[in-house]
Amino acid sequence: MNEYDSSRILDLTKKINYFSTDKICEANCYILNTCHIREKATDKVYHDIGRIKKEFKNKKKPIVIIAGCVAQAEGNLLLKREKYIDAVIGPQSYFQINNTILNCEKNLKSINETEFDVIEKFDYLNSIKNTNNKVSSFLTIQEGCDKFCKFCVVPYTRGAEFSRSMKELVNEAKQLADNGSREITLLGQNVNAYNNNGKRLSDLIFEISKINEIKRIRYTTSHPRDFTEDLIQAHKDCKKLMPLIHLPVQSGSNKILENMNRKHTIEEYLSIIEKLKKVNAKIKLSSDFIIGYPGENKNDFEKTLDLIKKVKFINLYSFIFSARPGTPSFNLKKIDNNIAKERLFIFQNISKKIKTEYREKLLLKVTPVLFENKTKDQNKYFGRDECFNSVIVESDENLTGKIKDIKIMKVSQNTLYGKINSKWSQKDFAA
Ligand code: SF4
Repeated sequence: MNEYDSSRILDLTKKINYFSTDKICEANCYILNTCHIREKATDKVYHDIGRIKKEFKNKKKPIVIIAGCVAQAEGNLLLKREKYIDAVIGPQSYFQINNTILNCEKNLKSINETEFDVIEKFDYLNSIKNTNNKVSSFLTIQEGCDKFCKFCVVPYTRGAEFSRSMKELVNEAKQLADNGSREITLLGQNVNAYNNNGKRLSDLIFEISKINEIKRIRYTTSHPRDFTEDLIQAHKDCKKLMPLIHLPVQSGSNKILENMNRKHTIEEYLSIIEKLKKVNAKIKLSSDFIIGYPGENKNDFEKTLDLIKKVKFINLYSFIFSARPGTPSFNLKKIDNNIAKERLFIFQNISKKIKTEYREKLLLKVTPVLFENKTKDQNKYFGRDECFNSVIVESDENLTGKIKDIKIMKVSQNTLYGKINSKWSQKDFAA
């Protein structure tokens, strides 16, 4: 979502003649768009400011603005602790970024723009054309969350659930298609909670799939509680909807899920997967796990391992519990850090093994790949298959924006290497 927000911030700042630059040392304004999900993200802000300070030691100081969720959650603290920062602006206030920059130009310091008004934000952004021209683009359809998982900052930094109107989203998707986008990933902290006057995520997917130029649709991040039957059915009926679903579960133990206030059980989670696979045999899953959540014992951890072995997730994002200030789990008694580290190590090894087994099965199979760009290497193109795996092929033909059937010749943990040929038979295709 920060990538989408950053691109929209650039659409806004163009209006006052601030453009993006690759030459960091020449910038006269820095906007650090931040994330507050884990502790390290906040540290990174201070680290980045140190880097900017060093860069500009003997030069005129640039304007420094901290945007995003760190600004929202720790705005006053940032301004107090680091005088090099001129302004902080929250994720729901960035539509006012031009005023903030202009005020900074006037040497006004310590500006704090963290008042929430998500409706005003999107009303304003709708009037500014989305100029993103990537083959694969993000489109924020929903923001905020009402679930209040006990470890999570999102309900406090992004606010309550808010869904944009279908009409404005279809308009923005058409702008992206006109700019050259062929794939759109619909974004929301709780994307499948999308609800605008009764229109659900599945309705929006079908509307966007009517745009000819858009060949692929994805969405992230979903919550098991909002995985309704219509969305499951869309995975059967909408051919443009890609089969990889990112469905965070966080733990394999019902006791821990309850402690986290996740509002779903493992049985419910597994039942969604079963239904999805029934309607579409291509469905694959990825997920997020928190290892070492307060109260997690050996038995809970083993249930987590059982779950990943059972579902065979093709990608997993796992982290040791990071206590975020202001959340209900902040003051809970933490488990021993060495035990947490050991569990993470075991978890990641098993997840790597599952991923390797999956990827080895792709060897010598054919899979449709949407190519996004040429790599720095001569004649090599980067794209993704339907399950979002990175694929690289050599080609003299410009493949950017095209979908080609690719035979996978080599696999590594993060990349598939393939070759083009249009004469594959049906049995060559990946299951
Ligand atoms: S559902 Fe997701 S965004 Fe909402 S509180 Fe839980 S983890 Fe955070």
